[in-house]
Amino acid sequence: MKLRKTTSAAALALATALVLSACGSDDSANGDGTGGADGGDGGGGTITIGVKVDQPGLGLQTADNDYVGFDVDVAKYVAAELGYDEADIEWREAPTPERENMLVNGDVDMIFATYSITDERKERVDFAGPYFVAHQDLLIRADEEVTETDDINELTLCSVVGSTSAQNVNEKFAPDAQMQEYSGYSECLTGLENGAVDALTTDDSILAGYASQEAHAGKFKLAGLHLSDEYYGVGLPKGSDQRADVNAALQKMIDDGVWAETVEEHFGPAGYEAADAPEITETD
Ligand code: GLU
Repeated sequence: MKLRKTTSAAALALATALVLSACGSDDSANGDGTGGADGGDGGGGTITIGVKVDQPGLGLQTADNDYVGFDVDVAKYVAAELGYDEADIEWREAPTPERENMLVNGDVDMIFATYSITDERKERVDFAGPYFVAHQDLLIRADEEVTETDDINELTLCSVVGSTSAQNVNEKFAPDAQMQEYSGYSECLTGLENGAVDALTTDDSILAGYASQEAHAGKFKLAGLHLSDEYYGVGLPKGSDQRADVNAALQKMIDDGVWAETVEEHFGPAGYEAADAPEITETD
């Protein structure tokens, strides 16, 4: 069923009607009119999930077109709880500046992509969760130090358009810092390496993944500044009827210990000490 790719009002209305007419809670996985599966548990439908593709440890597309990382594994767990096999998942790249649009346009059913819950974003989309807490930090060259938040005002920083990381710098803690904004974090790494920028700033969870990549061995380090709290939520279309089921799946993953194992598997190798699982607050 390819309805999830359709954005016309008529198709949305039809899909919504199908969902509403479905009886039994197993069919709640059918999406919100944007598509998704058509049969609930094992019913042969698909679910389209947005993830990052260039963030090692979180969402990374491999050379054999596989998707790996913490966000990917949380997405697989939630999808399984909603009745989808791994083979039923269609992965889509969800770049930082595109996430709200992708949900609004019905390009994806849900997004697991280091997606911070913010009031501004909640005007256009809904969130389930949170399922992880990260903190904004700086990635700097290994032989340099940035010890005070005030020092950031002197720096040229690189981040990504539409991210909380880019927004926070000038609005919250470094009004005078120079900001360069690109479409992906990996593009900032080249600038950091060749001296065009002094630091890449985003969530420490993401930065730890870059610092520990073999290609960057010994080149970069985290400054160790906790500049914000970033609560990662599951992005859902506004008005989604799946939030309760997604929250239940996240809570189950935390309670059965799989969440902690998944954290260790993906962040352990980077030496990143993740915070404990947050309380789920996005309930209505
Ligand atoms: N978590 C932050 C955000 O959602 C930064 C990471 C990202 O760009 O995905 O904006």
